[in-house]
Amino acid sequence: MYEKISHKNEVLLEEQVEPLFKATLSGGLANIFAACLVYLLLKNTSHMESSLWLSAGIIIFSLFRIAVSNHYIYTAKFKLKSYLHTHILFTLTIGIIWAIYEFMLHKPDDEALRNFVFLINFGLITGSITTLSTYRSAYLAYLLPQAIAIFSVFIILGDAIYYYMAFAFVIFMSLMITTSFNINRSHKKEIELKLNNRQLIDDLNKEIGAREMIQSELEENKRELEMKVQERTSDLVEINANLERVIDKKETAEQTLQYLAYNDELTGLPNRNTLVDRIGQSIKKSSRDKHQFAILFLDLDRFKNVNDSLGHAIGDELLQQVATRLNTTLRNNDTISRNGGDEFVVVLEELHDTNEVIHVAKKIIQCLTKTFLIQSHKIHLGVSVGVSIYPLDGETPLVLLRNSDTAMYRAKKEGGNQFHFYDESMSIQLRHRLELEHELHGALADNEFDLLYQPQISCLTGVTTGFEALIRWNNKKYGEIQPNQFVPLLEETGLIYSVGEWVVSNVIDFISNNHIKGINVSINLSALQCNDLEFFNFVRNKIEQSSINPSQIEFEITESLLINDFDKTRQLLDKMHSIGCTIALDDFGTGYTSMNYLARLPIDIIKVDKTLVREIDANNNLRSIVKAIVTMSQGLGISNIFEGVETMAELAAIKKMGGEVIQGFLFSKPLSAEEAVKWVESVDSAKHA
Ligand code: C2E
Ligand code: MG
Ligand code: MG
Repeated sequence: MYEKISHKNEVLLEEQVEPLFKATLSGGLANIFAACLVYLLLKNTSHMESSLWLSAGIIIFSLFRIAVSNHYIYTAKFKLKSYLHTHILFTLTIGIIWAIYEFMLHKPDDEALRNFVFLINFGLITGSITTLSTYRSAYLAYLLPQAIAIFSVFIILGDAIYYYMAFAFVIFMSLMITTSFNINRSHKKEIELKLNNRQLIDDLNKEIGAREMIQSELEENKRELEMKVQERTSDLVEINANLERVIDKKETAEQTLQYLAYNDELTGLPNRNTLVDRIGQSIKKSSRDKHQFAILFLDLDRFKNVNDSLGHAIGDELLQQVATRLNTTLRNNDTISRNGGDEFVVVLEELHDTNEVIHVAKKIIQCLTKTFLIQSHKIHLGVSVGVSIYPLDGETPLVLLRNSDTAMYRAKKEGGNQFHFYDESMSIQLRHRLELEHELHGALADNEFDLLYQPQISCLTGVTTGFEALIRWNNKKYGEIQPNQFVPLLEETGLIYSVGEWVVSNVIDFISNNHIKGINVSINLSALQCNDLEFFNFVRNKIEQSSINPSQIEFEITESLLINDFDKTRQLLDKMHSIGCTIALDDFGTGYTSMNYLARLPIDIIKVDKTLVREIDANNNLRSIVKAIVTMSQGLGISNIFEGVETMAELAAIKKMGGEVIQGFLFSKPLSAEEAVKWVESVDSAKHA
């Protein structure tokens, strides 16, 4: 604080002294000029010598004073107080010399001269107000010696006029001092203001500087902060990305582990664990829904050879292709799994009959027997399939798997590329079936089929109203084979279409060749034929080409066949009906015949099944039912035929209940075409007789 004040005073002093020193030249020149003038005025007086010394003194000290001032202003700029004190000392000296001058002139040679010198002094005193007032002491040092001298001279002169002059002089001096003081004060104020302003400006500049510094520091900090934030952010982003990568990897690893826990890595198929699990589920479901399901254990034939000769990579690719083929061959809801090595296991859900298994096993063998092409290697495989069926061959997943494996082993032992049921009897039946199927393919071409005709006789008149055409197959290897055995095979192999047409052709030829009139021949239709409108075209053309009456052709359908595709069957029957053929509903009473069918289909005849006939004479309830059937059909305008009538008792009962036509061994077994013709002729001749 003290330092600040003393510094301020120093600056104030500097500011006061600077104009003082700057004005020294003009003040000094004025004094030199005045000193020269006064010397010149007094040169011819008694004061000549002393005035020479005095003027010279004034001139010398004035010059000294100028030198000191200029030295300070232009070179030194330090030791202000020493310079100032020297300046004041020189000023005082000049003032004292002038005072000596004035005092010396209290006894002048010439009063006017003295007054002139006094005037010059007044002028100097007045003029020096401007040059010396900036520093009070300087002005006082210059003024006071002269004032005292002039005042003393006026008093010494002792005249009234000089007293007045002394008084006026005192007033003048007071005025001068006051003016000088005022100038000094205002000058100081000005300096203070200037200094204050400068201080303010300095403070302001400092403040601005400080603020700018703070601002730049702030900006620097901000930049650093931003950089750090940026660095941190990018660090965080990287850490985040790393974390995400780690999490991704972890998830992928978890998924892979999870996947591998349930799937085979090579083929992507369910693995053995999943398989056992699925078989467990199938067991639960099948035992609840009373279904069967099959397990097919597949083992590739000759896979080891491929692996050994072509390498594991090709072996792996082969297994993958096997998996792909199995996937495309089998249904979506069947489970295909890889058991390990070259073993695959297929689970066939919801079996309706073993034919489905045979069909699938054949498809599998077929699809895996086709050549595989791997890296330009043509590979031929075979597959041995073992089949176990739930619940027949086991009730737990492991037993079922073990038994299918055993069956597969047998298939392999018998040469491979075939399938084998675990149940031996099934395999024998199967083999027989397969052989029959094989034989069936050539049966039509080899003319092995034959048609028998079983007569249908009116209960009331005893007249033969019709025949049922029943197919027979006489195979060169197996002899006579019953339709119940081969008709399902015909359907499965699709041979039923051509065989069905063969039956129609034969029946029509039988009627037209033998000129049979007024007698119907019924033809049994299978489900597939009923869905085939081409069959209708065939029948119509055939009838048109012959001379027979279409009403002589009757088609028999069974109710199970209706369930298949009701709409298509109805279309076909409607068409048959529209050209005049009649329709009979076969095996009536054995299934779940809906009365709805009778109303919605063009049924002309119902054929009451032999199972109802069999007990008709003994079972009262059954009799009531059959009676109701007869009444109902008659109500609907539908005729009836009773099948399988073997005894007179049955015939009597049927007659009693209103039965119309009888077909059965009681009258005749199915007859050959010749026998049937003879039958017609004999009946006719009997009628005529
Ligand atoms: P279906 O249509 O019910 O034929 C009647 C079956 O009963 C015939 O057996 C016949 O020989 C037999 N039968 C007739 N009278 C008696 C009797 O008094 N007692 C006994 N126990 N049986 C009697 P078949 O010829 O073996 O035919 C069996 C089934 O094969 C037929 O049953 C029919 O559904 C089917 N079928 C026969 N021929 C053909 C055909 O050409 N095409 C089609 N799709 N199926 C046919
Ligand atoms: Mg029939
Ligand atoms: Mg029948």
